[in-house]
Amino acid sequence: MSKALTKALVVGGLVVLAAGALTIGRPVPQRSAGHVFTDTLPAAPVIAVRTDTIHKGEPLLAVLQRTGLGLDEANRAIAGLELLDARKVRAGTEVVAQVHPDSGVQHVTFQLAIDRVVKLARTTTGWTETEERLPWTTDTVAVAGVVASTLTGAIVTAATEFPERVRTELAYGIADVLEYRIDLSRDLRVGDSISVLVERETAPNGYVRPGRILATRAKVAGNTLEATRFDDAEGRAQFYDADGKSLRAAFLRAPLEFRRISSVFGSRKHPVLKTWRQHNGLDYAASTGTPVRAIGNGKVIFAGWKGGYGRTVEIRHNNGMVTRYGHLNSIARGIRSGASVSIASTIGTVGMTGLATGPHLHFETLINGVHRDPRTALRNVGGEPLPSKDKAAFALRRNALFADLSARVYAMQDRNAPLTVPGAAGIRRVEARAAGAGN
Ligand SMILES: [Zn+2]
Repeated sequence: MSKALTKALVVGGLVVLAAGALTIGRPVPQRSAGHVFTDTLPAAPVIAVRTDTIHKGEPLLAVLQRTGLGLDEANRAIAGLELLDARKVRAGTEVVAQVHPDSGVQHVTFQLAIDRVVKLARTTTGWTETEERLPWTTDTVAVAGVVASTLTGAIVTAATEFPERVRTELAYGIADVLEYRIDLSRDLRVGDSISVLVERETAPNGYVRPGRILATRAKVAGNTLEATRFDDAEGRAQFYDADGKSLRAAFLRAPLEFRRISSVFGSRKHPVLKTWRQHNGLDYAASTGTPVRAIGNGKVIFAGWKGGYGRTVEIRHNNGMVTRYGHLNSIARGIRSGASVSIASTIGTVGMTGLATGPHLHFETLINGVHRDPRTALRNVGGEPLPSKDKAAFALRRNALFADLSARVYAMQDRNAPLTVPGAAGIRRVEARAAGAGN
């Protein structure tokens, strides 16, 4: 029986399958219209399919009794269970029982996960327990978007190969790859483009999610940044640029995680942020309580109240640069003068203490006591290069992935001409909104 048919039939609890449904594929004799000669076919059993879900705290025995098994039979069914650990079966787990009209419940399946089913089946000698692992399938798709306001907006518009509910997550995944090189909340401009080669995973029930990001190419302010996935010896995902240098570097490009702030981009140019005149840093609009990260390893040299900055943390990094984080709502436990911090660790939360009339992070970089534009100070040109033994393999992989990506993006463009954003050659989908970008 087809999966879709089963699905349709089990919706709504108790459904009785007509005998005919069990004889699919068997030749059916011709009959005159209006008559059904049921006596000419062997009577097929009427199997009932019962679908239910496990209640909170419900013992397995009770679940089986609910499917229609008597107490003794239910006890026999669960005796010696190994795959189905009663303590690990969660409330809400789907249970499907097939019930024969004469001999009663024949088997009971427990959908333990999208891809995992355990089936209890009655045999002449007792009950058997089998596990079925339903394979996810993986294919590779390309997503190419042009920025009209934000990375998230561009990817949500472009990633039509994925259901809408997972597209934002895909954008965050891309941001994670690029976060050492691009401050995605500030650096992107209208017309910048991102293309990505990403695996698409499909569950047995049709659920689709993004898998591994294999390669991305970002064109930001006229510069192209490539990232090629190349797993290290321990199988950890590493991304390398076109020169074979790790994207991982000594400093993050932004003190707030992209996924935490992309929802408040609309308020980026909020007038309240401009009221504080004495301005030597970058402001990041974010909700109060958003975690603030140390952008690199270092030592805390100040943690407390500092005039107009309000609650403030200052960190001296190994290269001598100092970073300052102002208007904090709170300072994280353990963050005090002399404490060591590591890159990306939380040092406090966004607030509006001091001279601020709206919640935001005020972020500064100082070199030898002099303010530097963080966009310059944090420009990472490249992390650790690949070990030389891996360089040949990397080059092959990179060339293959980008040839694939380019071909797919070209094919998209071909199908969807004309392009509507100047200079966006090779990119098919264009985000409609043009507001909010710039500066
Ligand atoms: Zn500021």
